[in-house]
Amino acid sequence: MKLALHWKIIIGMVLGVIFGFIMNSIDGGKGFVTDWIKPFGTIFINLLKLIAVPLILASLIKGISDLKDISKIKSMGLRTISIYMGTTIIAIVIGLTIVNTFKPGEGMPQDTIEKIKDTYQGSADIMIGKAHMQKETGPLQPLVDVFPSNIFNAFAKPEMLQVIFFAMFVGICLLLIPKKKAKPLVRFFDSLNEVVMKMVDLIMLFAPYAVFALLANVIIAFDDTEILVKLLYYAGCVVLGLFLMICFYLFLIFIYTKKSPLWFLSRFSPAQLLAFSTSSSAATLPVTMERVEEHLGVDKEVSGFVLPVGATVNMDGTSLYQGIAAVFIMQVIWPEGLTFTNQLVIVATALLASIGSAAVPSAGMVMLVIVLESIGFPKELLPIGLALIFAVDRPLDMCRTVVNVTGDATVSMLVAKSLGKLKDPKPKEWDDNYPRT
Ligand code: ASP
Repeated sequence: MKLALHWKIIIGMVLGVIFGFIMNSIDGGKGFVTDWIKPFGTIFINLLKLIAVPLILASLIKGISDLKDISKIKSMGLRTISIYMGTTIIAIVIGLTIVNTFKPGEGMPQDTIEKIKDTYQGSADIMIGKAHMQKETGPLQPLVDVFPSNIFNAFAKPEMLQVIFFAMFVGICLLLIPKKKAKPLVRFFDSLNEVVMKMVDLIMLFAPYAVFALLANVIIAFDDTEILVKLLYYAGCVVLGLFLMICFYLFLIFIYTKKSPLWFLSRFSPAQLLAFSTSSSAATLPVTMERVEEHLGVDKEVSGFVLPVGATVNMDGTSLYQGIAAVFIMQVIWPEGLTFTNQLVIVATALLASIGSAAVPSAGMVMLVIVLESIGFPKELLPIGLALIFAVDRPLDMCRTVVNVTGDATVSMLVAKSLGKLKDPKPKEWDDNYPRT
């Protein structure tokens, strides 16, 4: 019997967790995982990152050059940005409602706070340093950063928004020059797109083993289970919020595209499982694109724009988490700051912070510093505040990354539907027969 890809990945994950616990409990086990298991996870992530730039270029240039009507680009851009902002604000409001209702930070014993402070303050200081490095730029710098002066720098870093800008620029110019002259380049990018999609298929054959390595490595990092247990209520609130957000996406998809939650999840879950295992929407992007184009039926010109932009600026899971984390920290160590105005400021800054967060592990926690500073959180309490949530950040990062990529996929379906660019994927393409024949 042929097992569907998502089941293979789930088995890899479960075995990875079990293996991680076993290695955690035996002498020299951690070193073994770091030296001999973790590198396979790193190779997998490297391969995914390797194909991200060619995939965005090929998919977007090909998609745009196929457009009959150039004005579609404007309406696609406007719809994408407004739906992204709308879902992010809803995510933050869900987060704030949960944290104010369940109040996970109230009544935390002083000795627990002291222990957490002693254990994690060093790591928190590093986060704060990183946040301040990001903050020292002018207000229009994010806009300036979209326009590359050297495209090879943009590819090398990679700067996703710059790559998207370049691809759109090329795609639009291809539409504006005579068809005969455009044809060779369009065919080149079409063929490049096929090649990169095939690469995703082949890399995904390795996914079940890679997630084993990635999860075993996550498990060996947990040693202070006592602190973990104390933070369970807070972590539970974040997970509840993220779960509600997923339900909200499934509801939107059902209402606007008439696709059932099961239909969506069975086709998109490999991307969600990878987001969970890698904690990075950027690393997951190639798989998100492949799933959305080939399994959910979104046209390339929509997915090629909406998904890379989303991976960079749309992080609903991250902003929901920032809302809950900020209020939780205030409930524990700065209750006098818990005013209605401050919570409104959190909505605005968490929205901006999630746009500014990089799509890599822990980015959401770094940007939380900026959210806290914007409400006048006392500087001297900042390291303790971050230390408070440090112990459970990695598992929560894994969960919020799932929401981040699901949000991007949802918006791409909604935008595609509204532009008449959502088709029914052919059965051959949406079964999990890897590699594609
Ligand atoms: N890890 C998240 C992502 O890549 C960002 C974050 O919340 O830290 O989407």
